[in-house]
Amino acid sequence: MGEQRNMNITRRSTRRVPVGGIIIGSDAPVAVQTMWDRLVTKDDVDSVLKEIALLKEYGCSLIRFTVASDEDVPIIGEIARKSPMPVVADIHYRHTLALGAIAEGVHKIRINPGTIGPAWKTREIIKAAKDAPCAIRLGLNGGSLPKEFSSLESGEAMVASALMYADIFEQEGFPDVIVSLKSSDPEVTRRASESFALQTDYPMHLGVTEAGPLIPSVVKSTYALTRLLEQGIGDTIRVSISGSLQEEVITGMEILRTVGLAEQGVQIISCPKCGRARFDTHQFMIKHEQKLHRIRKSLTIACMGCPVNGINEARHADIGITGSGNRVIIFKKGEIVREVTPEEAEDAFFEELETLL
Ligand code: SF4
Repeated sequence: MGEQRNMNITRRSTRRVPVGGIIIGSDAPVAVQTMWDRLVTKDDVDSVLKEIALLKEYGCSLIRFTVASDEDVPIIGEIARKSPMPVVADIHYRHTLALGAIAEGVHKIRINPGTIGPAWKTREIIKAAKDAPCAIRLGLNGGSLPKEFSSLESGEAMVASALMYADIFEQEGFPDVIVSLKSSDPEVTRRASESFALQTDYPMHLGVTEAGPLIPSVVKSTYALTRLLEQGIGDTIRVSISGSLQEEVITGMEILRTVGLAEQGVQIISCPKCGRARFDTHQFMIKHEQKLHRIRKSLTIACMGCPVNGINEARHADIGITGSGNRVIIFKKGEIVREVTPEEAEDAFFEELETLL
């Protein structure tokens, strides 16, 4: 079945942190996560759960929600109890919201102790998380760091802050910590994450923050994350996009696939089209790409405009479709299995695909 790249990556040895039903760290699969992008009211819970189930089909393993008010606490509790994947509560400023979310049974909380206030508040959160149990992400961003590190370059300041905060967790004897050091500058993100990873055994959550709309985000996130993942650094990733949650998850999965760390899912090969095209690859992808990304089996699928380069370029594909004269060809591993009219093409392709699932 689908050709998976093997970059012989040796994952960094870290502590293993249980988060709901999954493990983050060491040799556990790198988990793709995303963050809910809207306010959730009590009436929204059912539709939110349906969308989470769909995100899971795309390869998402963790979902994070903002908890910004007392009203949010029971709502995230209900979502956490019913969700098909672990739920993370993202909390700033009010440590009582973290205590509430932990009591409601969320699987992980994300805090930046710098926005939580005096250290005793962070210690209270840690104690509650220990009793629950609930994992904690120590999530630092370049924009909100303690003043004592203001003379340092922002990446160095993030590392120094994270080491300082991590000490609080160590003093409290709480091991289930995941750390992220995010900047909107991909190179700062890369250097800070690498430096912190080399000094500690905490699992790392990777991401470039405020990375922009789809194209800039894909470029920046790929730049920073692939360099880290190739070194074995990174245990969970979030691609931040001013766009849809599906795009974040698909991009995260593509990054893992590119470095050979995706355990399953579809690799799509499709040509950009040129004057030789006898099959409209653009329209086919617009119509079917999302469906293909939800296949969780390892498959390579090709969609080519013509057979000139098409079948040869994609001969390793498990299944492919291409135009040829006024016919459409379906091929498997470079061998033609069907030749149909353009009107029959999509049905024929999906019938053949079905035989591989
Ligand atoms: S596969 Fe054919 S149509 Fe597509 S870019 Fe190559 S030559 Fe052009």
